Amino acid sequence: MNRFCPICSKTVSLDEIKRYKTCKACYDKEHPLFTLGKGSLAIQICPTCMRYRSIDEEDKAWNVPAVKAYKEVWIQAIYQFIVARIPGHEKLDFFIDFKHEPGVLDSGRKKVVWLELAGRERDEAEPREATAMVQLLYSVGTCNECAQKRVGYHNSVIQLRAGMKRAKSDAMIEQMRHDVELLAAQTHFHGTAPVTSIERVPGGVDIKLASKKLGKVVAGQLRKKYCVGIKESFKLVGVDKGTGADLTRQFYGIRLLPFFPGDVLLLPRSGEPCLVLKTTSAMIHLLSLASGKVEHAKPEAFTEESIVFRSETDQLSQFQVVSLDEADGTMNLMDLATYEERVEALRPWLGVEADGGTITGFHFADSLYLIPLAPGDVDAHVDASCGGGPDDGGGDGDGDGAGDEEGSGADGPGE
Ligand SMILES: [Zn+2]
Ligand SMILES: [Zn+2]
Repeated sequence: MNRFCPICSKTVSLDEIKRYKTCKACYDKEHPLFTLGKGSLAIQICPTCMRYRSIDEEDKAWNVPAVKAYKEVWIQAIYQFIVARIPGHEKLDFFIDFKHEPGVLDSGRKKVVWLELAGRERDEAEPREATAMVQLLYSVGTCNECAQKRVGYHNSVIQLRAGMKRAKSDAMIEQMRHDVELLAAQTHFHGTAPVTSIERVPGGVDIKLASKKLGKVVAGQLRKKYCVGIKESFKLVGVDKGTGADLTRQFYGIRLLPFFPGDVLLLPRSGEPCLVLKTTSAMIHLLSLASGKVEHAKPEAFTEESIVFRSETDQLSQFQVVSLDEADGTMNLMDLATYEERVEALRPWLGVEADGGTITGFHFADSLYLIPLAPGDVDAHVDASCGGGPDDGGGDGDGDGAGDEEGSGADGPGE
């Protein structure tokens, strides 16, 4: 007895009609084993590192190949961009048969590879198999990583400079450089060294970093730790061939401000000499040597002319406290260099409680300004007694200037 396919009327076997309800050819036509979303794929391969990407993808992301050889990259790209997107691909085994490979001498930007993609059912006793031709077009293009390396291997530059020459500046710049290296050592940049060069330049040091992010982190940390002014800028260094986006290099001009604890500065709003207790990029904490009041001012409020005493080079005069006259509120001091005696007001914030000790001071504009015996204590005492409390941002410190209240507000409150 003859059986016929209900679609094409061809004679079919009992097995065939049982399994497919039609002839096998008609079944295959009605139920293709797999269909390709697209019969072609265009990829770009970086000749330096063999990363590849599909130029049809929206994100145009570069992929790292498992094996750095052209044919392996083709296969990986076919699986990633074609096979993995075939509906039901996980039930099939795929095989790639290269039918045409471009010769090494093939000219043209786009090279053509033809291949036959075969899929075979995995778990069937009589697995069906189907094939499809796929065209692979590939061109050579430098990936972002390699392009960035080519523009000089660095994407941000930390420029450390001494704002004004001070005896301490070189050592401070050196300490900042050391800090940058320590921070960099905690990071990685795509397997390359995070610091690509350190160069001494007139007035400072240039540190070139592979990543932009590290530049930002470093600048932020230096701002927290030191009293610096930071200018940020960028330079166009090229165009990303793949995305057309601008490639830029970030610059952080970090100027060390020449104000250090122990200096005496003239406070602009009062003209009083003030001892620097603590410096940060946001704020200088001072103690007025005229009134004993704690003052705060932004570093920008001061210039080199504001400095009337330099802690590391200028000498303080030493005085012995000869006697105290608490009824008068005075004390007798003897200059230890000249043995001349003088009477000075016994101000509580100077911290002089007994005779016999020494106190230092310096002469400015025909006056002697005494330095409190424990300036840090005055700071803590005044902060607390002023009831500065939480909105003062400080007050919890122990007065040694090691507090960290500037951490959150880089620009600080207005003065
Ligand atoms: Zn048929
Ligand atoms: Zn590359």
